[in-house]
Amino acid sequence: SPLTQVNSRFQLLRANLATAAQAGRPVRELPGTLCFESVYGRTEPCTGCPLNESPEEIMRLGSSEAEIADAAKEKTFLLSIYQFDRDVENPRYVCYYKDITEEKKLQLQVVQSEKMAGIGQLAGGVAHELNNPIGVILSFTQFSKETAEEIGDEELLDNLHEIESAAKRCKGIVAGMLEFSRPSLDEQMAPVSLEEIVDKALFLVSTQRASRNVEILREMQPDLPLVMGNNNQLLQVFINLIRNAVEAMASGGNLRLRSCVDERNYVRISVIDSGPGIPSVKLNRVFEPFYTTKAPGEGTGLGLSVSYGIVERHQGLIEVDSEAGQGATFTVVLPPAPSGD
Ligand code: ADP
Repeated sequence: SPLTQVNSRFQLLRANLATAAQAGRPVRELPGTLCFESVYGRTEPCTGCPLNESPEEIMRLGSSEAEIADAAKEKTFLLSIYQFDRDVENPRYVCYYKDITEEKKLQLQVVQSEKMAGIGQLAGGVAHELNNPIGVILSFTQFSKETAEEIGDEELLDNLHEIESAAKRCKGIVAGMLEFSRPSLDEQMAPVSLEEIVDKALFLVSTQRASRNVEILREMQPDLPLVMGNNNQLLQVFINLIRNAVEAMASGGNLRLRSCVDERNYVRISVIDSGPGIPSVKLNRVFEPFYTTKAPGEGTGLGLSVSYGIVERHQGLIEVDSEAGQGATFTVVLPPAPSGD
């Protein structure tokens, strides 16, 4: 971390190598320059810097702290200032800058994920409101179809048929939104079919624009054992995995969904994409909360960590296998539901 000694006129007396790195110049060039200019790229002292106070005031406080931002390098530091000696005529200070950029980012992302939860609630409310009108459209379309059949108007019947299938599609989307936005406080476990959950997740993600260029290949083994689980939470897991795969293949590719049962009778479901893959150095980070390589506003970095937590609570685990350029495979492994006998 940058560590400097300055006088009350912001002149650097000494600086360590981290300061030089932050300044982007050799350390021997720093003494005599102004800290805010040479190190933090400003024309005026940093806002909030305690050195803006009079020497008497700083002396009175003994030491003080402030948050300093380097706008150009997008870094934030926590600055602590200590009076170096009791020289009142020509006071010198020690400044210690702790890099808190990552912490600040985390804070922001927590705010973002709370926002997402809020959006989820809003979407749930809207979905709820849409449910009835869609039902009305569907039933009146069906009445009208009967009439059209009676009078034998083929063209009208065709049109009504289109309206009906579009309304059914809306109904499906709304049902999915409602399911997704239900509070996850519901911890109810029951024997569930992973195949049904995967299909539902596929349907929901397929309504998104990003999935347009992706070919979906289902390689699901029939008669998978049921697992003991919470429908909504497991749905969320597969939505996250499928959405990540689809987003990784923005310019097209194959999405494979493969299932099998291992020798312990555990169910394994793999979501396999043909996207750019994940370089090995990043592989162990993808489950970290807030780890994301997506643009701000596009990724929260919570998808995989939340999914991992859910699967763990189901006594299972998520495996990842990938190499840069080779696509990625995420496999959910879950124990079978105890058999009834
Ligand atoms: P988010 O999707 O919001 O970024 P996630 O926790 O779901 O958060 O994913 C974290 C990161 O893992 C992504 O930003 C991406 O870099 C990487 N990742 C996840 N799935 C894939 C995939 N199928 N292919 C390539 N990278 C992936």
